[in-house]
Formats: sequence, C-alpha cells, structure tokens
Amino acid sequence: MSKNSTVLHETKALISLSNLDHNFKYLRSLTGHNTHILFVVKADAYGHKAELLIPVAEKFADWYGVATVKEAVELRKANAKQPILVFEPVNESTISHYEAHQLAAVVGSFTELEILPQNISFHLEFDTGMGRLGFYAKDWKSLKSKLIEKKIKPSGYMTHFADADEPNSPKTHHQLGIFHALADEFRSFAPEAILHASNSGGLLNYPDAQFDMVRPGISVYGYHPAGADSPLKPVLSLLSYLIAVKPIKKGMAVSYLSKWKAEKDGYVGVIPVGYADGIPRSLSNKIQVNTAGKMLNQVGVITMDYMMVFSEEPLTVGSEVELLGPNSMLADSWAKIAGTIPYEILTGIHPKIKRESIELNNKY
Ligand SMILES: *Cc1c(COP(=O)(O)O)cnc(C)c1O
Repeated sequence: MSKNSTVLHETKALISLSNLDHNFKYLRSLTGHNTHILFVVKADAYGHKAELLIPVAEKFADWYGVATVKEAVELRKANAKQPILVFEPVNESTISHYEAHQLAAVVGSFTELEILPQNISFHLEFDTGMGRLGFYAKDWKSLKSKLIEKKIKPSGYMTHFADADEPNSPKTHHQLGIFHALADEFRSFAPEAILHASNSGGLLNYPDAQFDMVRPGISVYGYHPAGADSPLKPVLSLLSYLIAVKPIKKGMAVSYLSKWKAEKDGYVGVIPVGYADGIPRSLSNKIQVNTAGKMLNQVGVITMDYMMVFSEEPLTVGSEVELLGPNSMLADSWAKIAGTIPYEILTGIHPKIKRESIELNNKY
C-alpha cells in the first residue's frame, strides 16, 4: 500500500462549535427570561476541552461550574470571564485560591463553614435526597444561627437531583418539595442569593425546578441524559485513520483470543486507537466505524492501542475513520452496548487524544 500526500496521521476529537451553539440556543429556549445558565464544565468539559468551548459558551453561559478548584484555576487561565462555582467541599489546602481567582465556593457542612473566610462568596448546598454532599434540610435552623454568628450570608442556595433524567420521578418531586419548602426561608434570610437545583434532567423534564438558575452539563454537549429523542446535537466526533491494511483469507483469526475469524477473503484495516485511548474493550466486535464513507464492522478484540475492521473491498492506508459522530455511531449507542452512560464514554476519551474545534457549518 502506498501512502499519498493527503493521508491523515492523527487521531483526534473534533469539537463542533456550531452544534454547541445550537444546543445552547435550544436549552435557552426552555428557560425563563431571568433564569441564569450555569454551564457545567467539570472533567475538562466532559472530555471536550473547556478552553475550546469558551468562545461560544461565553455568549450563553452566565456561570461556569467545575468539580475542583484546580479545574477552576485552569478555566481562569483559559480566559473564562464569568463567575465560576466550585462544587467540591471547601478545605484548608484550597481555600486561598477562591479569593485569588474570584471563585464561588459551595459549602455543605459545618466543618467547611468553620474554615470559610469572611470575604468569600459561597453557595450553601442542601442534600434533599442525593445522599452525597450538603446539609440536610433539618440543619437549616442551626445553620442560620451559625451564619448570623459569623456575620456571613450565602450568595446562593443549591441542591442536586438524583433521579431527574426521567420525567415524573417521585424522588425528584420529593426533592423539589423539600427545596421549595425552604425557598421562602432562604429568600428572607439572604434576599440577593440565587436558588438553583436542575441538572440537564431537571431542565428538560421539570419546568417548575428552574428557580433562578439551571446547571446543565450533558445536554449542552448534545446528549439527552436518559437517551430520549431531542433536538440536541452531539458536539464531539472522534476521528482516526487506517495505519495499516492487509489482505486476510477466509478462516484466519484477528486479535487476542481469536474471537473473530474471517468468513470470506477480504482486508483487515488497523486503526491506532484502543482501550488505552478510552475505547471500552467491551465494544469489541459490536461497533461499526465509517471508513472512507462506508460503515465497516470492527472485528476481533479491541487491544490497548489498536482495533481492527474488516472489509471485502480493498482499503487504503491513511483513509479517514470516523469512530464517533454523525456519520458513524454516537456516544449513547456505545454506552448502551458497553452497559454505561454517555457521560462515561465522553469523559473516558483519553486526554492524550488531541481536541480540535471546528467552525460553523462543518459536516460535524
Ligand atoms: C455534574 C453536575 C451537573 C450537571 O449534570 P448533567 O446531568 O450533566 O446535566 C449539575 N450540577 C452538579 C452539582 C453536578 O455535579
């Protein structure tokens, strides 16, 4: 096989800014006029690379949300201007960064409240049923006394849904009930503070859960959290290329454990991505990829750095391969096969794979 001069030599994740723009516009159409959007960009924007998204995100997002102070500092370095809310609990080792980088803290325990300096903006988190971080609703009275004693007031109150991906979940109505019941108390104690509860599921399924701000993540990246039909468009496509091609005879096996054998003579194409790149091994023999415009079966066990495809027709070294994207498969189909959720597929794409943003009106 001879190489030609236009061969692709790289595996990369293409980030469609037009799809991002589209998703923001759709989500904006679901929110009230005065409802703020906090764009959740934890785990480097669910594997999309936050800094690439900022030019579009800053037109729509009033806030950013990250898991850690470290992520927040990175985001500031990438020139993010909007306020940043840091979800992780406050602790002694990170506390100095909040002021230095103008970050808003999330406080969910009395221990955190003890170490919180007077001048840091903070949101109080309530655990209404997630069972993870936050005060219980029954803590409100003693919490309020503590705040009065320390002469500090929160700039926000939040809770997080455990089960909002499906519409009409009794659990979500229960959580919402607890938060609504405290809302008047919250507002009278700190009238300027904003209330927020909804992740993507809350935003898409529970219009009465918007309060002053919503916190979508996965939907902005183009996936409905429950896999339901929606106008959302996936932002990330994963591209690679054929690094090697060879003929194969009927009956010959491909890859470890010889789990796949050719039923006909044909060609094997080798793609330089494997489970070390974040492609779940459990997808072996179960996905198709688009190679030079044709859907081909991935065959044999996916290995650490390579996976193989089979074609009856000859293949060309250097041909582009789309693994994830509008012309191949989407992360939620991979997730279904692998027994997981699109969040895990997207955040699992290894950071060693280059992310590259593409402009409006591109086919991705
Ligand atoms: C991750 C996260 C979100 C976003 O959830 P999606 O399901 O991706 O929309 C919102 N709020 C908090 C506190 C989170 O941790």
